Amino acid sequence: MLQKKTVDDLQVKGKRVLVRCDFNVPLQDGVITDDNRITAALPTIKKLMGDGAKVILCSHMGKPKGEPKPELSLAPVAKRLSELLGKEVVFAKDDTVVGENAKAAVAKMQDGDVVLLENTRYRKEETKNEENFSKELASLADIYVDDAFGSSHRAHCSTVGVTEFVEESAVGYLMEKEIAFLGNAVNNPVRPFVAILGGSKVSDKINVINNLLEKVDTLIIGGGMAYTFAVAQGGQVGDSLLEEDKVPYAKEMIEKAKAKGVNFLLPVDTVITKEFKNDTEYKTVPTGEIPEGWMGLDIGEKTREIFADAIKGAKTVVWNGPMGVFEMENFAKGTKAVAEAMAAIDATTIIGGGDSAAAVNQLGFGDKMTHISTGGGASLEFLEGKELPGVAAVDDK
Ligand code: AMP
Repeated sequence: MLQKKTVDDLQVKGKRVLVRCDFNVPLQDGVITDDNRITAALPTIKKLMGDGAKVILCSHMGKPKGEPKPELSLAPVAKRLSELLGKEVVFAKDDTVVGENAKAAVAKMQDGDVVLLENTRYRKEETKNEENFSKELASLADIYVDDAFGSSHRAHCSTVGVTEFVEESAVGYLMEKEIAFLGNAVNNPVRPFVAILGGSKVSDKINVINNLLEKVDTLIIGGGMAYTFAVAQGGQVGDSLLEEDKVPYAKEMIEKAKAKGVNFLLPVDTVITKEFKNDTEYKTVPTGEIPEGWMGLDIGEKTREIFADAIKGAKTVVWNGPMGVFEMENFAKGTKAVAEAMAAIDATTIIGGGDSAAAVNQLGFGDKMTHISTGGGASLEFLEGKELPGVAAVDDK
């Protein structure tokens, strides 16, 4: 990572700097319900403003599928940014993103001004990384800065293509921080290194499990994906989530863990119910003994203790994916136990975005973690050991 140029390596006074941010924030009736992604981008924006750049921001929001969709306009983000920066952020309302309006707004900029372009996915070329839109974006700027970690696993015009047509490119502070935390944790961890995986699908995390088994001391698996492993061990899982076709893979991973001397922890008990809802009868049984008609929605009490114990001794912990259906209070206990155990230790604790980040914040442990990634998909691909296209495209030092 250190070989990539960062904003600290740039001379930006009087230059037009296009900054790709991840402003894909949740909206309800046009109101931003969580502005974490906006505040996370502020250090880079403030640095560039302070250094006298003309700061042109861009981002996607949601999936407008290549057409202007008013409900996915970035206008509310410009408003929130103006409040946070204490300075007007001009919104370049433009259905073609880089149209007359955007060009005029940029032409008027003074040093230190900020303009926000419209949702880059209003253009169908964006997600196909087509040259014409990359060139249009680049035509607005001299320098490009990528601070959109959450989009860095996608090769799009605004994350990859644009870099070819600007004088210079660099990563922003958020990107630098994300890569430093995730990179150090995975490639140079203070040991013991414990990774925790959960969520619904084994198939989403196949490469992550395989890669992490090369690196960790302990691998903990919970959530819906654990039942495929339970079947691999000869257990009965009733109506729980199961990916039959992944049972051989699960067996292979159990064997690999043994061969590598990795402490591989699977749930020993599970909270089961007959219906997928919060207010219903539930009980705890051994994981491999779930009767027909019942499904596992959370890890059981014994498992919570075993997992918490393994976390207690760790010096580095990386967590991606909830331990159960944490959205329902009765089945959030496993996820909470893991969050609590991580919050209590003196170690580097990293949350790999997405649902686990939401769970940790919802349960009130957000400020107890060393780092909560802003990118769910991107952090998973990072944990898989893949190179992120958005990072690779940026200039080396
Ligand atoms: P993922 O998107 O794969 O990270 O999965 C996150 C989702 O997995 C959350 O919405 C959880 O409710 C769900 N989940 C976790 N454990 C279970 C389970 N035992 N059964 C069904 N869904 C689960």
